Amino acid sequence: TRGLILHSLPEGKLQPEHFRIINIALPDRPTLLLKPRYVSVDPYMRTRMQPEGYDYIERWIAGSLLSGWTLAEVIASNTPAFKPGELVVGHLPMQEIIASDGKGLMRIPAGSDPTAFLHPLGMTGFTAWVGMQLIGQPTEEDTVLVSAAAGAVGSIAAQLAKRSGARVIVTAGRADKRDWLRHQGFQAVLDHRHADYTKQLNNAASSGITLNFENVGGPAFKAAIEAMRVNGRIVLCGLVSQYQSDRPRQSPENFAQLRQKNISVHPFVVPHYLRYWADFQEFMAPLVAQGGINWSLDTLSGGLDSIGPALIGLLHGDNLGKRVVEIT
Ligand code: NDP
Repeated sequence: TRGLILHSLPEGKLQPEHFRIINIALPDRPTLLLKPRYVSVDPYMRTRMQPEGYDYIERWIAGSLLSGWTLAEVIASNTPAFKPGELVVGHLPMQEIIASDGKGLMRIPAGSDPTAFLHPLGMTGFTAWVGMQLIGQPTEEDTVLVSAAAGAVGSIAAQLAKRSGARVIVTAGRADKRDWLRHQGFQAVLDHRHADYTKQLNNAASSGITLNFENVGGPAFKAAIEAMRVNGRIVLCGLVSQYQSDRPRQSPENFAQLRQKNISVHPFVVPHYLRYWADFQEFMAPLVAQGGINWSLDTLSGGLDSIGPALIGLLHGDNLGKRVVEIT
């Protein structure tokens, strides 16, 4: 079958030539054969290409077979645990046909929209829930800032904060994304890429941000710290603007303000929270089923060949909603 590998490690911006399709031999008698339908494309994939010590997750090197969160159909089964035709999600290699032993696969519950498991009921929804609900715990006393809120994690995190009664300020780097956000009743919608962002944020949050859900990093993060109130909290989810850099800045220039303002910073990565997966499903599944969460997929067609370009575009901010690639 065909599989997608990282052909060479990028230095700076990721390019199409860093990817390559190769032929992969499947084992003779696999427990399961899966056919992927959608592969999730996520910013952390770029951090896996950074030098040793940059991230928590196993590095990809030249020649690594890529993998990602995938919605797949069982097409052959040698175990009573799975039947052909069933849909599953899990972290799987990027191949057109996948051999699996079934470990780590989750069945899509009957009656659910399978594609919801790529986003609000999948890893991005889980990230938003862990960061906002479990760690951030906003209340109606809070003024919350969520950056990159037209993206996958940010859009869910912002909605969770709003449901808690907090005032919510959201940001997005493109006009159509801000229009999409404006229809959702947030207190203010700003452009975190604008040269005057710091000023705009200070105006929008005149009495200060009390809870910052950080997705972007760089100058936007610096502006957020500037606008924070004494005793504020930061949930540090991601620093996406830094992932393509040769010398990524992990901390903002005004780091000292965190101490001056007695701000608590809570960085997190979801693999440490998987024990809460059932609680997350219990919270989020009814909400999604009732239409209580506004979510959309940003779907690219073209199969495996489109995954590299989809990731390159994601890191430039091309997506509105959760970026996935359809595999047909
Ligand atoms: P998104 O759907 O939000 O896509 C990425 C978005 O980041 C883009 O659409 C763009 O939005 C913004 N962006 C990209 N490049 C830049 C740049 N140079 N400067 C400013 N903004 C940029 O992706 P996700 O929802 O999957 O991820 C959002 C964040 O959450 C990321 O930082 C990611 O690493 C993090 N994350 C953390 C996890 C954890 O366990 N802690 C797990 C999953 C994700 P715009 O056009 O609005 O600028």
